[in-house]
Amino acid sequence: MAPRQTRWEGVDGTGKPWVCMTGKKQSPINLPTTKTISRIPRAHQTRWSYPNLVSNGSNIEIINNGHTIQVEWLGAYNAEVDITVPANPTDANRITDVINMTYTDKATTVKATPLQFHFHATSEHLIGGKIYPLELHIVHRVTDLPACASGCFTVTGIMFELTTAGDDNAFLKPILDNAPVREGTMNYLPAGDEIELGNLLPAPTERDYITYEGSLTTPPCSEGLLWHVLTTPQKISLNQWRQYRNAVGMKDCVAKNGTTENHEHKHHRHLLAAEAETHPEDWSCKVVAHGTNFRNVQKVYGRKVKLAQAA
Ligand SMILES: [Zn+2]
Repeated sequence: MAPRQTRWEGVDGTGKPWVCMTGKKQSPINLPTTKTISRIPRAHQTRWSYPNLVSNGSNIEIINNGHTIQVEWLGAYNAEVDITVPANPTDANRITDVINMTYTDKATTVKATPLQFHFHATSEHLIGGKIYPLELHIVHRVTDLPACASGCFTVTGIMFELTTAGDDNAFLKPILDNAPVREGTMNYLPAGDEIELGNLLPAPTERDYITYEGSLTTPPCSEGLLWHVLTTPQKISLNQWRQYRNAVGMKDCVAKNGTTENHEHKHHRHLLAAEAETHPEDWSCKVVAHGTNFRNVQKVYGRKVKLAQAA
């Protein structure tokens, strides 16, 4: 019998069932307000250093994959993200161990390599019950821990709130101005343009974050991820928020050169999931409504959630 397949139920490439509906360590969650939770000692806190991503015209891709706007780069990227793990780690150690360490535990660090970043509107995580208009996720892989030889993941989440003054966020501008509106298409960041990824984070002294063990927020919803959600929101203008929600918006698509019967209008946000999947260029689409792309908050099931105060 074919495995049950819904938006949140299915199997991965190796036949292993997704854990979206069954896992007890799912993301996102409603994070507690920072006053009430226990702390990560300063010496064990994650540190982020992201140099600028500089385009040569064909090395930085801004992708509309039908679910989100995602930025990927070809070739090495000299970012440095250091995650604390117990000293002399063995097979038994996990990338999430830092959540359970106390300040007397001997520690070392492992490097996390950023793979891509993407956005959600509205935010997936809530902080003290509050939803933000936009959340940025920077996805990293860790391999230099014995248990992570085939890759463990850690994600950094950054919240954005709307400015009242209306100024654009200059660091989001090269991304949003080049984000394709058509699902399944990609634009290269123009040559000479730069993405100042480090400036999409708050200043180092304001990088307070909440950390917990969670999951991918899209299938297969794999668990064992170390999450960091920065509690200082960054700014986005209303115009930029609309730009993003346009790109992930509801499209009205018409077959370009079809007969009368396939001239009917199709309303669907995910062009990729429809008959246009293999030939998006055969369809002409216009945005008819702004969209959203977030997973609802999941149960915490007693997980430890901690605060790291940067200063
Ligand atoms: Zn995400």
